[in-house]
Amino acid sequence: MSPVRIIGAGLAGSEAAWQCARRGVLVELWEMRPVRPTPAHQTDHFAELVCSNSLKSDTENTAPWLLKEEMRRAGSLLMEIAGVCVVPAGHALAVDRVTFARKVTEAISREPLITIRREEVTRIHEDELTIIATGPLTSDALSQEIAHLSGSTHLYFHDSISPIVEADSIDMSKVYMAARYDRGTADYINCPLTKEEYDHFYDALLSAESVEERDWEKLNYFESCLPIEEIARRGRDTLRFGPMKPVGLKDPRTGRQPYAVVQLRQENLRADSYNLVGFQNHLKFGEQSRVLRLIPGLENARFLRYGQIHRNTYINGPALLRETLQMKHHPRIFFAGQICGVEGYVESIATGLMAGVHAAALACGSDPVAVPRATAFGSLVHYVTHAGADNFQPANITFDLLPPLEARVRDRQQRRRLQCKLALEEFQGWLDVGTGALARPGRAKLGCRRRANL
Ligand SMILES: Cc1cc2nc3c(=O)[nH]c(=O)nc-3n(C[C@H](O)[C@H](O)[C@H](O)COP(=O)(O)OP(=O)(O)OC[C@H]3O[C@@H](n4cnc5c(N)ncnc54)[C@H](O)[C@@H]3O)c2cc1C
Repeated sequence: MSPVRIIGAGLAGSEAAWQCARRGVLVELWEMRPVRPTPAHQTDHFAELVCSNSLKSDTENTAPWLLKEEMRRAGSLLMEIAGVCVVPAGHALAVDRVTFARKVTEAISREPLITIRREEVTRIHEDELTIIATGPLTSDALSQEIAHLSGSTHLYFHDSISPIVEADSIDMSKVYMAARYDRGTADYINCPLTKEEYDHFYDALLSAESVEERDWEKLNYFESCLPIEEIARRGRDTLRFGPMKPVGLKDPRTGRQPYAVVQLRQENLRADSYNLVGFQNHLKFGEQSRVLRLIPGLENARFLRYGQIHRNTYINGPALLRETLQMKHHPRIFFAGQICGVEGYVESIATGLMAGVHAAALACGSDPVAVPRATAFGSLVHYVTHAGADNFQPANITFDLLPPLEARVRDRQQRRRLQCKLALEEFQGWLDVGTGALARPGRAKLGCRRRANL
């Protein structure tokens, strides 16, 4: 049996490779780093988290929790590793990004059924079982090949990276620790601003110089990841309703809610660096240090990384993909991760897991079974394959993507609890019958049950 060819050992590709191997299916995993770097990755590790270190809320009965819970139940390698690299972040699941990527790389490298090739892939062979998981920064040559294969042009937009500061450069006498509405532990550093400080910051931000746009890059920001200066341009108060929202963040020293707040989230287990939450921007580095040092507590901040902006590449999922993430016209080719039209780390891992399960089924001579619509997995894929193709935009997992309950339930919390319960029941049904070799080892052609050795 020929191996499944997986292109890209990021979040989706690593998880996909693991799922194939768990089912006894041989994998060739192609990763171009470090031979050819990307503008955002800083290491040659697999599954590197390029910006925030948060895998979003892990509060029960939220949509990101449901997606993660389904992954945990499906035996996700990356969720298992995330669980042992946790750093405090209130109700969010945040990880030490270096340990996380190192452990994923080690686990994948130890797996005898996975052969790693450190090379850029530039050609796709339609008859070879392939998962394309090259992410938002897919290399140019492969992008052209995908455009050729899909018969359509790519859509481009931009994502931005938030700045990171060294912890001991923050003036702790001017800030306070708190979690919004006291939910979870008080892990965030909050920099409070008075009206005068906010106005001063706002004016400086608006007059700051941006990085020049290159001709080939037409700025077309994704609404949920706007640069702060772009949000600010929409009105003097827009930041106070977005990344500088003060509600639920009472300053314990004054007993009052500040006029505006900048939140900083711990970056690593050593707690020696913090990122400015939601402060992705497109300003020149010198301008960033000038403007961000106007924030109380950050007057002498040392920046470990400045905000940046990058291209995002994704295909038109509704036009090209089936619910099993196979191409409609080339069923041996799968797409997973950000490139298939999802947005976010967790969503990328989830689609990698699905593509791995489906490709393994095909490799074993079975038909892939789509995940039920009522699950978080199924809803995400339903969006990717059924949203309007004319103006398709990638999506995060939210309750909006899940189908409404048949019975009307007025209480929002109760409704969500029921949706999650139903989703997990349906998901279990899929695990029992739809995931092939692992769920029913006896029926697999090459089935061999493996345990994570972390
Ligand atoms: C700058 C930036 C910041 C982001 N910040 C966040 C964030 O804070 N939170 C969040 O939830 N999401 C964020 N995202 C979105 C997304 O969740 C991440 O990009 C995520 O890593 C996507 O996972 P992936 O597996 O699809 O791609 P990746 O993790 O990027 O993996 C793709 C891999 O494919 C490799 N590759 C590319 N082309 C080739 C080729 N031709 N041959 C071989 N290998 C190739 C790359 O080197 C890379 O290792 C961000 C994206 C970008 C670009």
